[in-house]
Amino acid sequence: MKDEELIAPCGMNCGICKAYHREKNTCPGCRENHPNEPVNRSKCIIKNCEDMKKNNWKYCTKCSKLPCKRMKQLDKRYTTNYNMSMLENLKFIKDKGMDAFLEKEKKKWTCPECGGIVTCHGGICLDCGFVKFKN
Ligand SMILES: [Zn+2]
Repeated sequence: MKDEELIAPCGMNCGICKAYHREKNTCPGCRENHPNEPVNRSKCIIKNCEDMKKNNWKYCTKCSKLPCKRMKQLDKRYTTNYNMSMLENLKFIKDKGMDAFLEKEKKKWTCPECGGIVTCHGGICLDCGFVKFKN
């Protein structure tokens, strides 16, 4: 998938998610439809949001209800545990565009030791184990 397709409606970057990189039960990313969807993804309130479907939005950026209750909960969890914020991501995408966002993400989640991918779940490099973010 293209990098842009890895950015979920909520602003999550699936490219830095542990589930996207694991060998068993690999998650194809929030946007990909898959018969064996991980439960938390197929049941995602944001992905299945009626406003989003009705308006054909790609991201939550245009929604007047933003941040809704679900987004606040999700954002709090990720800000606290995973060194990232969906709401900040969405704001950045809205203000500066997707290309600038992808550029910023690449810098943030690249391992300074080996150039591998650092996952937000644990803050470590998936290739060499370097700890970039301590929670
Ligand atoms: Zn590394």
